Amino acid sequence: MELENEEELSVEEMKEIVEKLDEKIGEYDEKIETCEVGSERKKIRSERKLSKQARKQLIDFITRKQKYQSDMELFGERNSYSKTDPDATFMRMKDDYMKNGQLKAGYNVQLATEGQYALAYDVFPNPTDTRTLIPFLNTIEESFFKLPDYIVADAGYGSEQNYEDIIQKRNRTPLITYNQYRKEKKKKHKNNAFHVDNWEYNEEEDFYQCPNGRNVSFRYYSKRKDRYGFTREFKVYECEDCLGCPLRHLCTKAKEGNNRKIYINEKWESQKEYVRTKLSDEKTGEIYGKRKIDVEPAFGFLKANLGFTRFSVRGKEKVKNELGFAFMAVNLRKYTAMNIIQTHEYRNNPKKNGSNHLFLVIGTIFHLFWLVMSQPLVNCIGFSPVGCPIRFQYSLHQKRLTSQPRSEPGT
Ligand code: SF4
Repeated sequence: MELENEEELSVEEMKEIVEKLDEKIGEYDEKIETCEVGSERKKIRSERKLSKQARKQLIDFITRKQKYQSDMELFGERNSYSKTDPDATFMRMKDDYMKNGQLKAGYNVQLATEGQYALAYDVFPNPTDTRTLIPFLNTIEESFFKLPDYIVADAGYGSEQNYEDIIQKRNRTPLITYNQYRKEKKKKHKNNAFHVDNWEYNEEEDFYQCPNGRNVSFRYYSKRKDRYGFTREFKVYECEDCLGCPLRHLCTKAKEGNNRKIYINEKWESQKEYVRTKLSDEKTGEIYGKRKIDVEPAFGFLKANLGFTRFSVRGKEKVKNELGFAFMAVNLRKYTAMNIIQTHEYRNNPKKNGSNHLFLVIGTIFHLFWLVMSQPLVNCIGFSPVGCPIRFQYSLHQKRLTSQPRSEPGT
């Protein structure tokens, strides 16, 4: 048969073919019944065999296609799901005792805290930090409270899309580093003559000067769209002539005959500059510096003190409920401890308890919880309310949440 079109056959089309084949097979059956010559019957039977085989194969295709379709619906934007809990996604966990990068079914939990109190949380199926920030901020705004002035998070959340969302859409200040933030401050980076950050830039004529003294001039604009539909715009610069350059092997991996090209994303560069300025500012820098002491303890209490290391339920909604109770316990524990401390010798010295309740701190914890045999990864972010110090934290935690009943060692 020749293909009439390149598109895959739909289930309905395949069912139609099966019906046609049934008719054909029926015709053969009739012929066999009415035929009285043995050799003729044998010939018809062998002809019928082909139709029967095709029919069998098509039915198999239909069953599989239907299964794939329902699987794809379950996947959604994910690339996997757990058979025992379709809401859980397979993720690479922080703890990898086997050192083989195995994936485990888990959830990505984000928590907002202040003064080590859990204030808002949500559960996400995607393990990528950068892609959970915006939906979590939406959740906070829709279901919890107004966002604070500053949004503090660590490098895992620093992306052009997140900065743009926080600055332009929400009119807040992101105190979020980006992946290269620490690296850029290192001597090695600053002394790297081949990194464009260290090249001289001529603003009037829009060109850089490379270590060999040649001009790397603007050529054209280029756009890149990521798989989630976010578009980045780059200015592409190209060296006038890299041919015969003695530094070439140190400078570029471009194919022989091609000149070195550099891609500059102006928006990203200005966002990075903005963040650097904010982080070097005394007030906002201090806020960012405090982020570690706010969100981490909430998870510390949850795991180490309450022993909540695995989920005991399956399904996103149930997991959310269980988490809600767990975080409530964390808060009550913290509140009780605070009350006890305040009624004793620390009453007049609230700083000693590590938390200042005069302001609200919201933190986000990004957490991958294992479903059955999994260990989670936790990232924390923190905020602070309008006019108050804020912290947005990101950290990695280990956690075991399982759907299996807990048992004592050795039992
Ligand atoms: S390879 Fe090209 S861009 Fe790099 S130093 Fe040499 S001339 Fe300059």
